[in-house]
Parts: sequence; structure tokens; C-alpha cells
Amino acid sequence: MSRIAILGDIHSNLDALEVVLADCRAQCVTDYLCTGDVVGYNACPHECLEIVRGLGCPVMMGNHDFYVCSEQDLDDFNAAAAQVVEWTRRQLSEDEIAWLRALPFTKTVKGVTLVHSTMDNPESFGYVFDNLQAEANFIMQKTPICFHGHTHCPMIYERTMSGVYRIDPQDFKLQMGRKYFINVGSVGQPRDGDPRATYVIYDNVEKTIQYRRLNYNIEAAQARIRAAGLPERLAARLAFGQ
Ligand code: ZN
Repeated sequence: MSRIAILGDIHSNLDALEVVLADCRAQCVTDYLCTGDVVGYNACPHECLEIVRGLGCPVMMGNHDFYVCSEQDLDDFNAAAAQVVEWTRRQLSEDEIAWLRALPFTKTVKGVTLVHSTMDNPESFGYVFDNLQAEANFIMQKTPICFHGHTHCPMIYERTMSGVYRIDPQDFKLQMGRKYFINVGSVGQPRDGDPRATYVIYDNVEKTIQYRRLNYNIEAAQARIRAAGLPERLAARLAFGQ
């Protein structure tokens, strides 16, 4: 086992997920990990959930996953996101909802930690956008590497003896004695201005991180959102990577 694909924030985008999984096969990926938010925003929750479930890999609880399966009120969500959560609840079977409900918030597997948001209170889904927020995570991160998502913005945070540093997403060799908090970006709704589907390949023998960015049929994903009667702005944003 050496080439591990880490997928996150798939968000019911079947067109993006299929392209990513085809790339994983072409890249000789041997294992899969998922940082959560399988559902929300896009129009194929059932299909995406079944594909991810079929991978048989560890999947963390994302905030959209949590709200879809918990029937909690949606005060924390903007109107468009909340509308899709309520729509998604109606699309999934009881069995699929039960599968979501059983997802863990964090897990250590194959020597790395997985979490959707941050190890600093994973159940409140805080966002990590700067070094201070990354530092709060590092205090709770027990393994050298932790993969996360949630912001939909790929980023590497590195903890050395002298402090926390932010490294733009790039092919990267991990150094011994340092800690890494790695945002794997989003398969289904990238927000860093690049609309291509994003995931990471971690080679745990070579100790390398590789960001993969892939074109997919954005028009098809947009058409599915419109056909389902979901908010137009969720279709529009896919084209801009925002
Ligand atoms: Zn998300």
C-alpha cells in the first residue's frame, strides 16, 4: 500500500466524482480516504453516496452530512445551502441516512488523522483560513499528518520548531519531525477560483503529496442542479470555482 487518494467535499457532484475516480485508477491509487461532505449543494446525493459507500473507505462526518441526517434546524446555513439540505433529506433512503448518521467526526487510519474541519473541536465545524486557526488544530493533532477540507480551498499548513507556515498547494515532499495539516480541496465545489475538481494523492512510502486538478463536465452538473429545481446560484458558482 502506498498511493492513497484523499477525497473531500464531494457535495453530490456526480460528474466531478466520476472524473476523479477515473483519474485515481489511472494514477494507480491503492487506497481511499474521505474527509466528508459527501452530500449538499449539488443534485446527485444518492449516486455519490452509493459510490463513496462502495469504496469501503473511512469517511468523516461533514457539516452538510450532519445536517442532512440529523434533522436539526439550519440556522447556521445560508438559504441556498439549507434548501439543498432539506431537498437532500427527501432524496435519500432511511438506510442511506443511517449510514450518514454513523460517520465519525475524526479518525486515525494508516498513521494519518482525518477530520472534516479541524481537530480543535471537530463537532463545531470551525473554518481554518489562517496560521492561528491552524495552530489550534496542531495542538490537538497527534499524528504527523492530518487531512481535512471544509473551506474547499486547497492549502498546506506546516508546523516546524519555529512556527506555523502556510504553503500553497503544490507537489510537496513531507519532512521528518514536522507536522502537516493538509486541506485536500473540494471534488464537487472548489472555491479557490479554479473550478476544476480537486483531490490529493499521498504516497506514504515516498512521503509525497500531490494535488490533482481535473476538468469535468461543469455544464452537466449545472443542468442537473437546474433540473432538480435547486438554487441557480449553486449552478452558476461551479463555473467560477467560488
Ligand atoms: Zn463542504
